[in-house]
Amino acid sequence: MAPRRPIDQMTEQTPVTQTAAAKVPTLPDAQTVTEVKHYTDSLFSFRVTRPASLRFRSGEFVMIGLMGDPDPVTGRQKPLLRAYSIASPSWDDELEFYSIKVQNGPLTSKLQHIQPGDTVILRPKPVGTLVHDALLPGKRLYFFATGTGFAPFASLLRDPETYESYDEVIITHTCREVAELTYGRDLIESIRSDELMGELLGEENLAKLRYYPTTTREQSPKMGRITSLIETGELFADLGVPPLSPETDRAMVCGSLGFNTDLKVLLEKAGLREGANSEPAEFVVEKAFVG
Ligand SMILES: Cc1cc2nc3c(=O)[nH]c(=O)nc-3n(C[C@H](O)[C@H](O)[C@H](O)COP(=O)(O)OP(=O)(O)OC[C@H]3O[C@@H](n4cnc5c(N)ncnc54)[C@H](O)[C@@H]3O)c2cc1C
Repeated sequence: MAPRRPIDQMTEQTPVTQTAAAKVPTLPDAQTVTEVKHYTDSLFSFRVTRPASLRFRSGEFVMIGLMGDPDPVTGRQKPLLRAYSIASPSWDDELEFYSIKVQNGPLTSKLQHIQPGDTVILRPKPVGTLVHDALLPGKRLYFFATGTGFAPFASLLRDPETYESYDEVIITHTCREVAELTYGRDLIESIRSDELMGELLGEENLAKLRYYPTTTREQSPKMGRITSLIETGELFADLGVPPLSPETDRAMVCGSLGFNTDLKVLLEKAGLREGANSEPAEFVVEKAFVG
């Protein structure tokens, strides 16, 4: 996860390889897989080439996918696309994604088998609410994630603007099992220890980063749902920070619908208001999946 050459220094789009191009010759939005890492039997990450024209704000999502199975009658194939948060920062010359493997999921039952050199479809129209523009200036920024909801924050955590705008950046990540924290843990570790990342984000800025992983099922140093840890005040006591306040605190939330709803209630109870691109406020929310 070392920083790559910034997109601004790119002179041309990385060409689609012969092998990959031969597999799906007609796709206008084809990108080539450059790296795949598996974490558990239900989680993996992958990197693909980035279209030279694609600009996005760290935290946004795009539609990606594969060609579906041929229609049994006509033999025609249609793209099978799903929303995916871009997990890499906006300066990276490749795009990274962090994905679930749903065993009978139309897309991820196939996507989990991709290899470097394969082709994925990427519609270059980034959108989303988990962006700095949707928040008013503040002192302390919280990222609250469960499961693959970590993905947009993997992008924002590698964006210098995140550290320039806040005195403290706190990422909480809650999963059932310890192994499900691996992608996030590795990323935090690489931000803290990678020399190039330190240079890019500013060594002094890295001291602002606080990582708060919790598990709900398997035993780990910190157990519990983040919503409960907020309600009891344990989160703030552990971090040595005051409870949530609209004067100082900003938050971005990404998880299941239930998680998002519960956190929204807690944030609003603390006096924070939900913002949007068109009307920045104190917190923003995005679903990590539909279902
Ligand atoms: C804005 C947005 C951003 C998203 N970003 C990501 C991302 O960065 N990484 C990612 O893996 N998925 C992400 N998703 C979910 C993604 O769009 C697909 O649902 C997922 O890839 C599964 O696709 P599928 O076709 O295999 O199964 P689907 O038919 O899409 O889903 C089958 C069922 O699996 C469950 N499910 C789907 N996705 C997840 C998930 N991520 N975590 C836990 N359970 C899930 C749901 O219960 C769903 O009903 C995002 C969804 C939205 C709306």
